[in-house]
Amino acid sequence: MAKRAARPVSVKSGRRSIQDKSRRARLDGAPDLAPTTNLLLANLPQAEIEAFSARAEKVRCATRDVMFDTGDPITTIYFPVSAMISLLTVLTDGTTIEAMTIGYEGMAGLPLFHGVKTAQSKGICQIEGEVYRIAADKFLDLIQQAPALTKMLHRYSQFMQDSMAQSAACNGVHLLEQRCARWLLVSSDAVSDGHFSLTQEFFAQMLAVRRAGITTTMGALERKNLIATRYGSITIVDRVGLEKLSCECYKTLSDRRRDLLNNSD
Ligand SMILES: [Zn+2]
Repeated sequence: MAKRAARPVSVKSGRRSIQDKSRRARLDGAPDLAPTTNLLLANLPQAEIEAFSARAEKVRCATRDVMFDTGDPITTIYFPVSAMISLLTVLTDGTTIEAMTIGYEGMAGLPLFHGVKTAQSKGICQIEGEVYRIAADKFLDLIQQAPALTKMLHRYSQFMQDSMAQSAACNGVHLLEQRCARWLLVSSDAVSDGHFSLTQEFFAQMLAVRRAGITTTMGALERKNLIATRYGSITIVDRVGLEKLSCECYKTLSDRRRDLLNNSD
């Protein structure tokens, strides 16, 4: 896989636009609108929005853009808006398994927040879209004067731990079709869209199975009229049906995410 840096496309976002968009942020059920900001930024006080805006820029990431690789110094922090970033665990034989999906409810580069300067996971854009990015030194400066953002990042850290623990249990116990339904919903939530592009290679990484198993399972879901696939893009046709088919992990983590991240109380 070629290593590419995330490329800037759009210009720095104005302070006003971040605040206005943040008021419309949501992540509380079946998404039907494209996300307009990042949930961790959604309810910050004005002073912190301005401090963030002065240091960040909004850029567009393409599928397969590499944010950081295993062992790399973390030089940039990413807050997805409409993109989805995947944290991958890379084994010595080259096998890559997804550890965490990061959509507009989260951020990539969390080790730096905890005082760790290098990445253990590989961070890669799996669904193209926009992200706010901020240089590491500016991020460290920012959190010195942003207690509300600091609190949200602590809560997000807890959500990451809970997600990884749930996924470990899920991969070991739940059926492939259930897990596939779960990850289709998770991916849809991450970009807040019922239509997105995902490669079967990535799905195999997310589900820690071989690609042949993914092909069979996606075909079964399509025959049940739960999804439609076309040239690598996926459309969720019957979200309620997909939620019924999914294992318990989707609801467990959706509820947890809502409790931890949809408010700062
Ligand atoms: Zn599960």
